[in-house]
Amino acid sequence: MRTVTLNNGVEMPILGFGVFQIVDPGECERCVLQALETGYRLIDTAASYMNEAAVGKALAESDVARKELFITTKLWVQDAGYEKTLKAFETSLSKLQLDYLDLYLIHQPYGDVHGSWRAMEKLYRDGRVKALGVCNFQPDRIMDLIVHNGVVPAVNQIETHPFCQQTETQAFLRDNSIQMQSWGPFAEGKNDLFNNSTLKSIGAKYGKSVAQVVLRWLTQRDVVAIPKSVHLDRIKENFDVFGFELAAEDLARIAELDMGTSSFFDHRDPEIVKWLGTRKLEL
Ligand code: NAP
Repeated sequence: MRTVTLNNGVEMPILGFGVFQIVDPGECERCVLQALETGYRLIDTAASYMNEAAVGKALAESDVARKELFITTKLWVQDAGYEKTLKAFETSLSKLQLDYLDLYLIHQPYGDVHGSWRAMEKLYRDGRVKALGVCNFQPDRIMDLIVHNGVVPAVNQIETHPFCQQTETQAFLRDNSIQMQSWGPFAEGKNDLFNNSTLKSIGAKYGKSVAQVVLRWLTQRDVVAIPKSVHLDRIKENFDVFGFELAAEDLARIAELDMGTSSFFDHRDPEIVKWLGTRKLEL
């Protein structure tokens, strides 16, 4: 598996498996085990996905060595702040049946993110987590975090797919030594992505599916991708994306699909800030 090197020297697989919306514990456990058997080593979960325990069960059951794995989880907004973050981390780690985490992310840019970050810096210095990062932070919010704290985020996980390509944000992140990671690489199928005529015709040229074209396009841009699927054939298909190289002319055609805006929601919309910021989970 190709890796990217984070700003602290940690190696991160460029392709991983996401488990958002795999809510049934048995199904989540099965999917993670099948992903590991397929060869995925990066598993992306979150406290708010309510499936950390199922992921932990699969990790415990698998015979893949801990040092080969790259496990990410995320801190939910209700646990923002120094003390709550330290506690939430222990809860996540115990559900995952792990004694350290590879990557701990602030899930949303809301609430006391500076308090959370200082707690995460302590966990990092104590060796409990190998790298720290954020999700859904716009460049201004990242700069604020950088300027007022000691550890520069290693990763920003943001919505990135052919309809929302984030090229300017990627340049900003690169300038600041922060690795970009895509969530929703297929836009969860929105805008009829899997039937997009451009992506289909490019796929036909290489004998690849639309999903494989999208994942190759992301990884060719050095973006880490974490596709989700509950189907074994798709889990395998999404992993088999390195045996071809998209030509410049095809990259240019994909660039034209960019709508320059989210296919989901705007993290700066006050109603969204209120909705996500007050969403309480029984963690
Ligand atoms: P996604 O990966 O863009 O899309 C998943 C959808 O695509 C599912 O409906 C899946 O269906 C389908 N699919 C997967 N592979 C396919 C294939 N080869 N052919 C046809 N359909 C296929 O969406 P996502 O799960 O939202 O994003 C990926 C991961 O990013 C998440 O699991 C999560 O780990 C992370 N994420 C993070 C944030 C954040 O705020 N940080 C937000 C969203 C997601 P089936 O499952 O039925 O196969």
